[in-house]
Amino acid sequence: MNRADVLTAHLPVIDAESEPFWAAARERKFLIRHCEACGRDHFYPRRYCPHCWSERCVWRPACGRGRIYSYTVIRHNEAPPFRDMVPYIVALVELDEGVRVIANLEECTPDVVHVGMAVEVIYQRITDEITLPQFRPRSPF
Ligand SMILES: [Zn+2]
Repeated sequence: MNRADVLTAHLPVIDAESEPFWAAARERKFLIRHCEACGRDHFYPRRYCPHCWSERCVWRPACGRGRIYSYTVIRHNEAPPFRDMVPYIVALVELDEGVRVIANLEECTPDVVHVGMAVEVIYQRITDEITLPQFRPRSPF
């Protein structure tokens, strides 16, 4: 079972609010939300700005680069399909735009990962509808 097969069992559910994000991900673009009322960005995508509660939010492309704000290494998970993936790294990435995203950190090992590591988004096509944004280290760390 390859990684894509494993992830298929736990895919996000696309709804009307998140559909533009997933459509962009299929085109290898990472969108965040921008509030035209207060000028701040946010993520995860939602209708209301979490800073000022305005509905004047629009989609905006992010650069796809950031740094690890925090992370955890999953070394033990008996639930299928995750038991075949350990150890894996789940990272809280702070994008250059200032918003934070939780995703898997790929192409990296637990002995190398660290807070502040420079990372970039990569895209894993899982199905025709779902392409998952994940992250990998970028050089220099
Ligand atoms: Zn706002």
